[in-house]
Amino acid sequence: MRRHIVEVVENGKFSHGSKVLELESALAAYTGAAHVIGVNSGTDALVLLLRACGLRPGDEVVVPAFSFIASASSVVLAGGRPVFADVEPDGYGLDPGSVAAVAGPRARFVMPVHLFHHLADMTGLGEVARGLGLTVVEDSAEAIGMRYDGVHAGLLGAGGVLSFFPTKTLGALGDAGAVVTNDPDVAEAVGALRHHGRFGRTIDNFPGIATTTGLVGVNSKMDDVQAAVLLAKLGRLEEDIRRRAVLAERYAEALAGVPGVRKLPSVVTRRGSVRGVFYVYVVEVDRRDELAAHLAGLGVGTETYYPVPMHLQPCFADLGHRPGDFPHAEAACRRTLALPLYPDLPPGDVDRVCDAIRSFYLGRRA
Ligand SMILES: *Cc1c(COP(=O)(O)O)cnc(C)c1O
Repeated sequence: MRRHIVEVVENGKFSHGSKVLELESALAAYTGAAHVIGVNSGTDALVLLLRACGLRPGDEVVVPAFSFIASASSVVLAGGRPVFADVEPDGYGLDPGSVAAVAGPRARFVMPVHLFHHLADMTGLGEVARGLGLTVVEDSAEAIGMRYDGVHAGLLGAGGVLSFFPTKTLGALGDAGAVVTNDPDVAEAVGALRHHGRFGRTIDNFPGIATTTGLVGVNSKMDDVQAAVLLAKLGRLEEDIRRRAVLAERYAEALAGVPGVRKLPSVVTRRGSVRGVFYVYVVEVDRRDELAAHLAGLGVGTETYYPVPMHLQPCFADLGHRPGDFPHAEAACRRTLALPLYPDLPPGDVDRVCDAIRSFYLGRRA
């Protein structure tokens, strides 16, 4: 990692420079994408992807009611309107049946989100999207390394995104993200939008290049220092993914049959073959908040991702939803808990966390 960072410091291109280009090529090789465009965050990647795919003001985008807020806020920031649909109870992917039920005449896009460890049902969603004439854009921010029938997440529709937020499977030392796509027009538009709408690659500190501004863009260039960090970590990504899988297996064995633990993450076999990646290890449990407090008391940090479903977020109150509208999303918000998981987590820690969970439900003290 040091070597890559020193190169950046020595060549003096700190933003949108040659390290970013190098990372884009390495990510293209890793994912199989024809185009990878580095940007400032996964959220920016979503906004720019939607714009590059031709979202017009007022267009509706179907997004899952259970996801990170950026899946829906990106739609608003791009000028569209989110329309929520329910998720499947296993794997938390957008439910194709619910998409068909909520998509109205103004719907032009559908945004599957691949959450936690699993891909959405891309075969079912592809069929619904074709039937309704919707363009598929994937929020694959959590999904680096995940594949569906061998195709990397983000490349199953018009395009997808990657987030390199520090906690993600491939994390930088700050914010960074990317768009992945096989569509050269989408790639060109994102490349321009991230850089004030300028077409053609211009390296910073190079004022001599004449540029025209064809689109009103933003400043969402990637930092070269982040690209350097990511290049170094990309080299051991597959090993990290393997270690995550081994730890997940250990959790699954230790938690099987524990009363109160309702659901362990499983790879649901549908029509496509899924290669999941344990970005996080999320279980469904009874008395979730009490368990989290119990674990915190023992020094075990857990995380509740998305305790409030999208459709009940105050910022979307104008859409007029009520509790009960999307029962699977609401149940997931009530019951899911992410247990500690990172590649260097000592296996003994997994055992201790599982003992503490068992003692909580069986009423014994650990
Ligand atoms: C992390 C994440 C994002 C946003 O990525 P940032 O890099 O944090 O902006 C979007 N969607 C999902 C599902 C995420 O997990």
